[in-house]
Amino acid sequence: MLTNKSGLPDALVRAVMSDTYSKGDSDYSVTELLKSPRQVALAKIHKDSLTEDVADRIWSLYGQVAHLILERANLKDISETRYFGSFLNKRISAQIDHMTLDGSILTDWKFVTAWKFKVGKPVEPEWESQLNMQLELLRMNGLDAKQIQIIGLLRDWSKLEAERVPDYPKKGVIVAPVEIWPRKRTVAFIEERITLHEATRGVRKEDLPLCSDSERWAKPACWAVMKGERAIRYGVCFSEEEALSKQGLNPGTRVEFRRGESVKCRAYCNVSEFCSQYKTIKESL
Ligand code: SF4
Repeated sequence: MLTNKSGLPDALVRAVMSDTYSKGDSDYSVTELLKSPRQVALAKIHKDSLTEDVADRIWSLYGQVAHLILERANLKDISETRYFGSFLNKRISAQIDHMTLDGSILTDWKFVTAWKFKVGKPVEPEWESQLNMQLELLRMNGLDAKQIQIIGLLRDWSKLEAERVPDYPKKGVIVAPVEIWPRKRTVAFIEERITLHEATRGVRKEDLPLCSDSERWAKPACWAVMKGERAIRYGVCFSEEEALSKQGLNPGTRVEFRRGESVKCRAYCNVSEFCSQYKTIKESL
């Protein structure tokens, strides 16, 4: 159910509600397979009670706008098309953002914050998996690609930050090539994800598998050497001793303790209010 806690105008609410996303006639979409089995299972159990606020869907709305415009400009190629394939007797689907008709390049657009493309940072492992899974579905439908890539459209890119911070991306758009896995590895990966999700069928919510640190985007506790409101460069340390020694070398700084947290649970998981694992984490803080 969609809520509108900030009383945003109807035009905006209708725009958010007009999202036509569907995984088609499939058991799982690639996006769903990449989520944690616990999150997907809890979403199924609580599907009638899940709420989302219009204000929290604004970036998704921007992403749809960008996809629509890119699709409109690429009539000659394959864009925004869903492909299907079967693995372990399950029907899997993936929506392809863009594929050149000569079969050379498969692209996925990502409308994300600039820090996702910090200089020297490898492509997010989830994106690499997603593109390889998409490629496998294309192959099952008689298509193929010689290259796969992410194009990052950096929604909050700042020219001033690019000039000021060495590892900040230098342009508001980034083309990031992605490694193509051997087919065997991709098929094994898809089958493993299906098996993990299928294992939650009929399981009571108390007995669902727990989310791993990476699925929760867990950040360990740390000590930051601060100057004013910001940590100094390389000032985030995972031991207090290291932070204190850096503070000694940088006059005018102070050390601030930052508690560890599960970033996804706190701010980005649609089932957090129903999740006993997150409740336990919060109680332990
Ligand atoms: S709230 Fe956290 S632990 Fe619970 S399903 Fe979501 S990501 Fe996993």
